[in-house]
Amino acid sequence: MDVHKTPGGEMDRERYTELTSILEERRREIMDQVQEKIRDVRTDGPNDEGVLDAAESSEADIQDEIEFALIQMKAETLHKIEEALRRLEEGTFGYCFECGEEISERRLRALPFAVRCKDCEEARETAQQRERAMAQRRGAASLFIDMHG
Ligand SMILES: [Zn+2]
Repeated sequence: MDVHKTPGGEMDRERYTELTSILEERRREIMDQVQEKIRDVRTDGPNDEGVLDAAESSEADIQDEIEFALIQMKAETLHKIEEALRRLEEGTFGYCFECGEEISERRLRALPFAVRCKDCEEARETAQQRERAMAQRRGAASLFIDMHG
């Protein structure tokens, strides 16, 4: 890492370092998992062919597909981490999308891709719940009208 660079705009150095380590830890973790999975798929992949009957091999196919889906999901997460690291360089990562306040490190550690601070997220959830409740009431009302109208 280039220590003379001042990435992160106004973000203080300590926070920048902390957020970088959160993201890089996460990235390393996922990369390890992906490599392990790829190894698994390889080792019990082609070697078994020919010994399995049709049912067994289609079961193995499904297993492979699941493994593949998992790897794909992890690859997507890796992509998100790369993006977050890029945003961190730009100084736009770690700020609330709604109010622009810093998202706490504790929150980012638990949810590295959080785009809102805790307060805004809670406000949003409350609003969504209210909306859902209203939609349900509307749904119930229209059902009532359909049945009787
Ligand atoms: Zn906020």
